[in-house]
Amino acid sequence: MDKVLGIDIGGTSIKAGVFSTEGELQTATRIPTRELVNEVSFAVVTEGLVNLLARVDATPDDVVGVGLDIPGPVDDDGRVGMLPNIDLNPEGLQRALKRAFPRAKLAFVNDANAAALGELWHGTAKDVSNFVLVAIGTGVGGGVVVDGKVVSGAFGAGGEIGHITVNRNEERSCGCGRHGCLEQYASASGIVRVYKEECKKLGVAPVSLEGPTDTLSVFNALEAGDEAAKAAISCMCDCLGYALAQISVILDPQMYLIGGGVSGGFKLFAEKLRASYRKYCLASSAMVRILPASLGNDAAMYGSAFQAMQN
Ligand SMILES: [Zn+2]
Repeated sequence: MDKVLGIDIGGTSIKAGVFSTEGELQTATRIPTRELVNEVSFAVVTEGLVNLLARVDATPDDVVGVGLDIPGPVDDDGRVGMLPNIDLNPEGLQRALKRAFPRAKLAFVNDANAAALGELWHGTAKDVSNFVLVAIGTGVGGGVVVDGKVVSGAFGAGGEIGHITVNRNEERSCGCGRHGCLEQYASASGIVRVYKEECKKLGVAPVSLEGPTDTLSVFNALEAGDEAAKAAISCMCDCLGYALAQISVILDPQMYLIGGGVSGGFKLFAEKLRASYRKYCLASSAMVRILPASLGNDAAMYGSAFQAMQN
């Protein structure tokens, strides 16, 4: 029976699913990886995939499509732009996958775009043809869907909404080299940084944090009434609502979906974010829905498989 693989490449593991050609997820697994730069590491991935196929009595020859998401700009032929957050040799991995699955056609999609496609296919945005997914994790990514199609742009950088300028007076540099990007205030690392700054301003000690992206602790502090946490989340909502209002002027989508690790705290900031959006948006776009994404960490795996099925 023909199968399609959807593969989501993360920093410390890949998530892979076997799909029927009708689009049903049959089994999935997480394969731990370190860097994906040499034949040894590629073999870990391909062997993991072969074992996964065996669970549903399938072999590598059954695979007709492999969809792969890439954590950076990528074009339809798999040519990859910058890869800031991961040790990955995309060409090598592509070659290894072609060898392991000789019948399969490979498809590529940027990771936030993959998550948007997943939500379109099987998630909150099912039957919604115009929406924007905002993936808030270590950084802020975006997947823009217009008339049912992901907009990846002329240079593969469409939907890089984390780099919308929300503060022209910022002096600190963003990872992209510019200043005052949304990501500097609304990503996990941005929220934690602003939280620490607010603590300093108030002359109080921050709660104990497990690293520079521990928003869970900041959300817990928020629930306990911590003033600095309140200020950090207000700042995040103000910047994000402002950025979404700018996007609406251009795209006027039906829906914004908030995904990524930070969306775990969605209930705690949803009303504040919606109010911030309404404060900045054009009146005609005020009815847009702002909702949490529903597939969680599986969204990009679904979207990668969906991309493969388009071939
Ligand atoms: Zn930036």
